Amino acid sequence: MIRDFDKIKKVAVVGAGTMGNGIAHVFAQNGYEVHLIDVSKSALDRALAMIEKNLMRLLSKEKIDEETKKHTLENIHPFDSLREGVKGVDFVVEAATENPDIKFQIFRNLDDWTDKDVVLATNTSSISITRIAAQTERPQQVIGMHFMNPVPVMKLVEVISGYSTSDETRELVFLLSKKLGKVPVEVNDYPGFIANRILMPMINEAIEAVYTGVAGVKEIDTVLKLGANHPMGPLQLADFIGLDVVLAILKVMYDGFKNPKYAPNPLLVNMVAAGKLGVKSGEGFYDYSASRKAEKVSAMFEKKV
Ligand code: NAD
Repeated sequence: MIRDFDKIKKVAVVGAGTMGNGIAHVFAQNGYEVHLIDVSKSALDRALAMIEKNLMRLLSKEKIDEETKKHTLENIHPFDSLREGVKGVDFVVEAATENPDIKFQIFRNLDDWTDKDVVLATNTSSISITRIAAQTERPQQVIGMHFMNPVPVMKLVEVISGYSTSDETRELVFLLSKKLGKVPVEVNDYPGFIANRILMPMINEAIEAVYTGVAGVKEIDTVLKLGANHPMGPLQLADFIGLDVVLAILKVMYDGFKNPKYAPNPLLVNMVAAGKLGVKSGEGFYDYSASRKAEKVSAMFEKKV
């Protein structure tokens, strides 16, 4: 038996990075009490500041009122201990670093430290839900709940059933996604699911085009924006996602399919090794140094809100 949808009031979000802060924001804005958990105190501080900033923006655009902003912030409680943070929660979404060993350990702990009827969801972009579920004694209650970035703006949630995920668990996550104002889409558990299976080869190919000197960064992005009507070019999107995340996803797909078409381009590998991770590190294919960073991120967000 899993916990009833109606009984879900308190949600743990594990990982307070790019995705975790957005997931915490949408749950809190929709009336859930959120325990936002991260091993890094500074990540928690940054997440709370980012949520407040995004709420201010929504307020200034009259998408929400002052009362909603206040309640949303009051609903979020930061924790730097997983064990403390998951005490008494009714549902968990894990959004920690895209690394199988980190996620496997988190799920072993979640299995030990949450009530047995709690559903454990992961926001992984590419790691097998079946392998994550196999770390627990409740694989039927483990599922992929793949939000898109930026979470408060993007409507899609890929709902990925692992080999053992029950229909009951999938239905619960469908209901929850709809309650958050999202559109859930059912997907099966193969590397990259759907969004990244199609998106990552495109980004990797754009990087290949830079690497082989076919065109410059701006030119490639302009071609895709104006020629294929994409809201942002693949290289800017890669910066926005995080080049380390892009690399991690490609590696999982390459490993999962054993197909060279998913092999990460050497330029991407080098950029990540050099710490050029995109928006979050201040530099990727574009420069986001101090003053320009806030300007650019805010422009991207504003365009979409
Ligand atoms: P991120 O690097 O911005 O944040 C990850 C956070 O996890 C960090 O703050 C880190 O301190 C924390 N963390 C690491 N180990 C932890 C642990 N044991 N317990 C608690 N917290 C821990 O990463 P992100 O971009 O937010 O990605 C998070 C997840 O969401 C990944 O699985 C990623 O594949 C997925 N995802 C990312 C995007 C995107 O656009 N970035 C989109 C969809 C899904």
